Amino acid sequence: DQAPVTVTVTGASGQIAYGLLFRIAAGDMLGPDAPVRLRLLEIPAAVRAAEGVAMELEDGAFPLLSDVEITDDPTIGFDGASVAMLVGARPRTQGMERGDLLAANGAIFTTQGRAIEAAAADDVKVLVVGNPANTNALIAMNNAPGVPRTRFSALTRLDHNRAIAQLAHRTGEPAASIRRMTVWGNHSATQYPDLSHAFVGNKPAEDAVSDRTWIEDTFIPTVQQRGSAIIEARGSSSAASAASAAIDHVRDWTAGTSDGDWVSMAVCSDGSYGVPEGLISSFPVTCADGEFRIVPNLDIDDFSRARIDLSVAELAQERDAVRALGLV
Ligand code: NDP
Repeated sequence: DQAPVTVTVTGASGQIAYGLLFRIAAGDMLGPDAPVRLRLLEIPAAVRAAEGVAMELEDGAFPLLSDVEITDDPTIGFDGASVAMLVGARPRTQGMERGDLLAANGAIFTTQGRAIEAAAADDVKVLVVGNPANTNALIAMNNAPGVPRTRFSALTRLDHNRAIAQLAHRTGEPAASIRRMTVWGNHSATQYPDLSHAFVGNKPAEDAVSDRTWIEDTFIPTVQQRGSAIIEARGSSSAASAASAAIDHVRDWTAGTSDGDWVSMAVCSDGSYGVPEGLISSFPVTCADGEFRIVPNLDIDDFSRARIDLSVAELAQERDAVRALGLV
């Protein structure tokens, strides 16, 4: 029998975690042969609510779920973690300046970075979901210098999946027929969903669509603003689809991407595609043996170049702001 894999989820009593934890327990993330030990990390005020979630997890009688532990202590929370999903973050409240938001999240992600370095398993993989996700991941990574930088990532898979969904809808083809979608840059409204390398079946996506105006004036802004559209329709943010994307992200990082396809992950730049080294930016990546590799040598046309540069400039600004606060 396989030993259980320890998965730590922060913000465990929040909306995204409510969608996420049950999918993990059901084996959707690490597969049907991997028993899971869940560690739920919460702030003290939310520990009671996390206990309720743990009761529901127990009531799922999941065959793969070996144990659930709840804590408000990061060092206990990340103890032995092979997968760390940092979902909890401080939301912007009314009257809060951007600097206040960065400082509040800075305190959370410096502490969690240090605790991951001190306590997590040697093979830990970190996914940051809590916003501003790329910069929160940057802070955690820089506060865990003993952990390889390639173990830190932030979620742009929801944006990637949204881009696939829009292209599927437009072409009338199933989502499963779409390959090589790419999201570049920051998980923010400046992100650049790029279908110039994508295929619908065996056809280049740009030929399948054959409408430049739709790509520029409909596809890109629809993907960028999809989060707001869901808040407007549902009255609260996109929690289940974010949870589903987090599952996809860790599953593909762990089990590998399909031949001939790639996924989007925000990872530490090695300088590829002119993205300054050290920024956590979204790239097309392939995964194998638990490691990701940025897809090399793609042609970037002038249209794409300008959009990548714009989003990366925003990431550099966020980095400069947290640097000024002494967080990285
Ligand atoms: P959610 O579970 O809905 O969201 C959690 C985080 O994910 C937010 O930062 C949210 O950003 C972000 N996010 C990223 N992508 C998306 C997306 N596509 N759609 C929606 N959200 C996205 O928040 P809740 O407020 O329900 O829960 C947060 C929990 O975190 C609370 O229980 C709180 O106690 C906990 N928390 C835990 C901490 C810790 O463990 N140390 C620290 C801080 C909070 P955005 O705000 O932009 O919507």
